[in-house]
Amino acid sequence: MLDLKGEYRLFADQVQAAVHAVLDSASYINGPQVAEFETALARRCGVTHALAVSSGTDALLCSLMTLGIGPGDEVIVPAFTFFATAGVVHRLGATPVFADIDKGTFNLDPASVERALTPRTRAITAVHMFGQCADMDAINAVARGRGIPVIEDAAQAIGAEYRGRPACSLADIACLSFYPTKNLGGFGEGGMILTSDDELGRVARQLRNHGETTRYHHERVGGNFRLDTLKAAVLLVKLARLDEFTRSRQRNAERYNERFADSPVVTPCVAGHRTHVYHQYTVRVPRRDDLVEFLRGRGVGTGVYYPVPLHLQQCFSALGYSRGDLPVTEAACEQVVSLPCHPLLATEDVDHVADGVLDFLKTEGGRRPAETMTTGAGSSQA
Ligand SMILES: *Cc1c(COP(=O)(O)O)cnc(C)c1O
Repeated sequence: MLDLKGEYRLFADQVQAAVHAVLDSASYINGPQVAEFETALARRCGVTHALAVSSGTDALLCSLMTLGIGPGDEVIVPAFTFFATAGVVHRLGATPVFADIDKGTFNLDPASVERALTPRTRAITAVHMFGQCADMDAINAVARGRGIPVIEDAAQAIGAEYRGRPACSLADIACLSFYPTKNLGGFGEGGMILTSDDELGRVARQLRNHGETTRYHHERVGGNFRLDTLKAAVLLVKLARLDEFTRSRQRNAERYNERFADSPVVTPCVAGHRTHVYHQYTVRVPRRDDLVEFLRGRGVGTGVYYPVPLHLQQCFSALGYSRGDLPVTEAACEQVVSLPCHPLLATEDVDHVADGVLDFLKTEGGRRPAETMTTGAGSSQA
């Protein structure tokens, strides 16, 4: 699924030089590389403020704090996402309200968001799942007029485009993650908050550093959400090859698509006017768990993102959801599997994985239980 050591070897000399430069300067916090990295990402993402922070989770947490989310508030989030999207809502004493997803793109379904609205809705978080932007025009349309801010959780989607505009420029405030396995993966934890709203940018900047306005004067209570200079320096090195890596991911995905044409494998549905950066290449297959075992037997790693929908997580049981509440999410959790798609894979590697999947489908266990499968072609957003 990953080749982090191989990636490091590609950058080793430059990374070591960058690390030594930081060590020599002893500017461990707020060194010039942090601002340089922020400026580079603001430009790439088409926003005016970019604030490097300690993780993608802290980017989401600090964004909600910036919007003033607290006890009694509701934040609409998809039930099909990484835990952090919803966890940060709960940590602030607010309530995550789970919405369902579009079955083709795995992204937030705007109609489900509309149904989840209440007078207490204070924000909507749209996740750009697996590397494809959510339907932001429709989601913004639901929020607009009601004065509800929209957050983009773009942790998986750096570089993705929606109607020619980059992820992170599509709503009020956006979050990135530089967790080592993300498309722009750092050497440790890291994240970023992006916005073109001057007031949100000002408040987020304060909150990142304990709500400090001038030294030892605190307008609000924030946290220590800073990104280390060392990590920013390393990320700057890796940023130079992000586009090239994205193209490799897209090439791998195209190869899989060709190999799975005319098979029961439901390949990713890329909706009109969007580009997919394939943080994950995620398909639906019959007998998913058996396929995972079959591929493991051939030495092929896979990932299931995500096996348990968030509305059915034990920690959210007090919210009172039950199985059947969000059927598209629940079906996805049972059917999805992500195949290796990282930029260092050669075409032969992709073919080896594809052969494994197609061979499994020829086995007795791999035959298709058609009635349980949904297809990308049926997507409302296709
Ligand atoms: C990775 C991820 C996060 C959290 O980022 P971290 O840097 O790991 O804290 C949040 N949301 C989504 C959708 C993610 O994939």
